Amino acid sequence: MTSWKCDNCGYQYDAKEPYEKCPSCGKECEFVDVTNYVPKMDRTGRECKCEICGTEVKVTNDGGGFLKCCEKLMVLK
Ligand SMILES: [Zn+2]
Ligand SMILES: [Zn+2]
Repeated sequence: MTSWKCDNCGYQYDAKEPYEKCPSCGKECEFVDVTNYVPKMDRTGRECKCEICGTEVKVTNDGGGFLKCCEKLMVLK
């Protein structure tokens, strides 16, 4: 399952594919894949890994958002 977030109103839901229209604001919004999104502070001291190249990073100063490597989101270990 993938988590999607409406770029417009912030509405978030789990579905295989993003909706064409946002159920919350009713517009044809941009939906952002937030499956691996981690809010600020929840990641500090933890390690993330790139599943493509195997690079591991330890998060020392978390500003929230996504960590990317090889054009993919890194996953929390
Ligand atoms: Zn919306
Ligand atoms: Zn990588």
